Amino acid sequence: MVESAMEFIRICRKNDYHEFVISMKASNTLVMVQAYRLLVAQMKAEGMNYPLHLGVTEAGDGEDGRIKSAVGIGTLLEDGLGDTIRVSLTEEPEFEIPVAKKLIEKYLNHSNEFDLSGIQLEELTYSPFEYSKRKSIENEHVGGHHVPVVIADLSKKTDLKPANLFAFGYNYSVSLDKYNFTDQAVDFAYIGNQNPSFELPGSLKIIADFENWKKNYSSSNNVYPILEFDQLNSMNDSDKTFFVRTKAEEKNLEILKKYSKAIIVLETEYSNKTQLFRNFRINLSKLDINNPVILHIEKNESDSEMFQLAISAEFGASLIDGFGDGIWITSNQSDSFINSTAFGILQATRTRISKTEYISCPSCGRTLFDLQETTQKIRERTSHLKGIKIGIMGCIVNGPGEMADADYGYVGTGPGKINLYKEKNVMQKNVSENEAVDALINLIKENGDWIEPTN
Ligand code: SF4
Repeated sequence: MVESAMEFIRICRKNDYHEFVISMKASNTLVMVQAYRLLVAQMKAEGMNYPLHLGVTEAGDGEDGRIKSAVGIGTLLEDGLGDTIRVSLTEEPEFEIPVAKKLIEKYLNHSNEFDLSGIQLEELTYSPFEYSKRKSIENEHVGGHHVPVVIADLSKKTDLKPANLFAFGYNYSVSLDKYNFTDQAVDFAYIGNQNPSFELPGSLKIIADFENWKKNYSSSNNVYPILEFDQLNSMNDSDKTFFVRTKAEEKNLEILKKYSKAIIVLETEYSNKTQLFRNFRINLSKLDINNPVILHIEKNESDSEMFQLAISAEFGASLIDGFGDGIWITSNQSDSFINSTAFGILQATRTRISKTEYISCPSCGRTLFDLQETTQKIRERTSHLKGIKIGIMGCIVNGPGEMADADYGYVGTGPGKINLYKEKNVMQKNVSENEAVDALINLIKENGDWIEPTN
C-alpha cells in the first residue's frame, strides 16, 4: 500500500502538483494503522508531509462499526496523525457525521495533558510498523501467550447479587443452581471492599482491596489482593500473586523487580494516556521488568456513544502495539454496555475474538441489494459463529478485494444476483438474492465451520 501510494506521490511531485490528501484505508485496523505510520515515516525520510485522510473501510454497523472505526482512526489521532477522517458505517449515510464529530472532539480538547517534552520517538523499544505482543511472564493465566483478560468492576454495587454478573457474561440458573457463561464472560471481578454473601462462579477470579483481602480472603485461592503502589513494601510473600495499582507517570519502577508475581494495573488521570502508557512500557523494557500489565481506564460520560468512541481509541492505541495483558473499564455506563465495549475493543484490535466479525461496506450508488437488511439477515443467522469473518459487499468494485481478509463473502454481482466466496475464491456465481443467505449458510456448513446455535 505504501509503495503504491509513494509511486503516485512521486509522479505528482515530478509534475509539481501538490494539492492532494493521501488515504490508506483497510478494514483490518492493524493493517490500516501500520500502513499510515509507515507512509508518514517514508514521507518524512523523503522530506514531504502531505496531509492524511483516515478511515477504516467496511467497518460494519452499530457498535462493531463504531468501535472498529474508533480503534483504527483514534489510534492515529492519538499520535497527532490525520487531517481529515471518514467513519464508514453500514447505516444511513447521515449517521456517519455525528460519530466522526464525536470522535474528533476528544482531540480538540487538550486540557489535563501530562508534559511529555523530552520523550523521543527514537526511544521506542518495539516497531510501530508491525504487531508483536510485548513479552510478559504468565501469571494466573494473565500475560505470556494468553489473550488479554477482561476485569469487571463491581466495587460500587451497593448490594451485590448473582444478577449483577449477568451483564458480565455469567447467567445464574436458580432451578439448576449453577452458572452458565457466555463467550463474553469476564475473567476477573474487582469487588473492592465488598464481601458478597452468595457463591461466585468458580471460573471467575476475584480481586479485593488489600485490607478486605487480609481480613476475609487471605486463605482463598481464588481471591487476589490489589495494593496501592506505596503499599508494595507490605507484601512479604514475594511468591503470592497480587495486583498493584501503578500510575503511568511513576518513576520508581525498580521496586517491581522484587515482585515477579505482581500483576501491574496501569492507570493515569491524564488525558494523553497513549503516550504515558507507551512511555511506561518503554521504561519497563529498559528495566527488564516483564510482569503482566492490565490497562485500567476510568471514564465517566453523559453521552454513551462518546464514551465508547473515546475509550476504544485509548485502549486501541496500546493494544494495536501489542501492549496490554488485560483491560479494565470503570465507568458510569451500564454494565452490559461496558462489557460489550471491552470485548468489542479486543475484537477490533484482533487481540481476543469473542464473536463473528462482519466486514460490510457502507453502500453507495453502485449497491446492488439492500445492504442493511441483508447484513441484519446474515447477522441473525451467523452471530454465534465466533471467530468467523464474513464480508458483505454491495458490488464487485471493492467486493473481491475485501475478500482477502474474510473467511466467507457475499458480494452483489448484478441486480438480484450474488456471488458467494470462500476466502478469495468464488464458490457460487449469480445466486438469486432470495436464496443467497441460505446458500451462504450451506457453504459455511460444507466447509465445516458451522455450529448449531445453542438457543
Ligand atoms: S457498493 Fe461497491 S463501491 Fe459501493 S461501497 Fe459497496 S463495495 Fe464499495
